[in-house]
Amino acid sequence: MSLFTFAKTEFHNLFSRPVTEQYPQKPKQFKERTRGHIENNIDLCILCGMCARKCPSNAITVNRAERTWEIRPFSCVQCGSCVENCPKKCLSMCQSYTRPGPEQTARLLRKPQPAAKPQPAAKPKFSAAPAPVGKSAS
Ligand code: SF4
Ligand code: SF4
Repeated sequence: MSLFTFAKTEFHNLFSRPVTEQYPQKPKQFKERTRGHIENNIDLCILCGMCARKCPSNAITVNRAERTWEIRPFSCVQCGSCVENCPKKCLSMCQSYTRPGPEQTARLLRKPQPAAKPQPAAKPKFSAAPAPVGKSAS
């Protein structure tokens, strides 16, 4: 590197903003299309299991009997296949990354039981043969 190139680079760095950020004091600003982690709006989810079938890394488990939807974030490769194939569009790719941890954790969401439908009112019971009217004993 010539002296001129070195001086040019040095002056440029001297008067430009630092490229590093004061993390964690200053929260990280993710780019708009960053693939971080998957979120599910469980209220819209119908537990059809399409996301689990389309996941190439088997990161999602859907249990219809127990009404649960589970994702293992450390198995997810952020391909976005589940988001694209969800028929209810309740999955979304969020920008922030899963926090690192010492264990393979899973995130389990449980869909609340639907409210019981109101039962129709019981019909009043009538006797098959009505009592005779106006019959007197003689
Ligand atoms: S594909 Fe969508 S609606 Fe179906 S189980 Fe997955 S998140 Fe729920
Ligand atoms: S983004 Fe890809 S790897 Fe991650 S859960 Fe969805 S389908 Fe599976």
